[in-house]
Amino acid sequence: MKDFCPRCGSKTGPFIKGFCVNCFSQKHGLLDYQKEIEIEQCPRCKKANLSGKWVELSEKNLANFLDKKIKAKELKSEKKEIELLAGDKGFAGKVTVTGKIGKEKIVLEKEISVRLKKNGCGNCQRIFGHYFEAIIQLRFSKNSLDKLESKIKEVQSIFFALEKKDPLARIVKTAMQKNGVDLIIGSNRGAKKVVRAIEKNSVEKTQVSTKLYGIDKNTGNRRYRYTYCVRF
Ligand SMILES: [Zn+2]
Ligand SMILES: [Zn+2]
Repeated sequence: MKDFCPRCGSKTGPFIKGFCVNCFSQKHGLLDYQKEIEIEQCPRCKKANLSGKWVELSEKNLANFLDKKIKAKELKSEKKEIELLAGDKGFAGKVTVTGKIGKEKIVLEKEISVRLKKNGCGNCQRIFGHYFEAIIQLRFSKNSLDKLESKIKEVQSIFFALEKKDPLARIVKTAMQKNGVDLIIGSNRGAKKVVRAIEKNSVEKTQVSTKLYGIDKNTGNRRYRYTYCVRF
């Protein structure tokens, strides 16, 4: 007995659960996916929340994300290709899935639209909430005060490099003082690295002081703020 599709009568295989590819695809859909996905994007740092992680909204990351959002059913040795298209309020991902059913090669094309919703990421929210862990005090003598601006620039450029790995490693605020400047820093880890780099040219040993400012709600650990005084 020859197979035929009970829905359309086609005798052309392959057959999936008794139906021809066309009918099966129409009835069940060979791909499991949502037509529209909403993702959060931070208006400040432009990172996006992809599966719970705040990452760069790069083509690669977005393609990886979409890759997980579309699942092929019934296809063997499937391959996915994702092409990103610009949309009005975000992006669209054109997903081409190729695979085999029996010996037959099947190509399916779907479009997923990605809408961006503005929402601050955790780190930026902390910065906006005036969160900081350290203060770097740059202090100068009368004779060295002319180096103030170049020192600030040097510090900024180090933070700029650190910020890529530690989003809180940045200058949150600067406060000019009579004999220097106070730099308010998001992360103490970042502050320590910067101090280590600039104290090579200082005239005195760096003074470090700590101040208890709270208890971590999650761990119960005491939280300190660190102040580094570097003199030139
Ligand atoms: Zn059919
Ligand atoms: Zn952000």
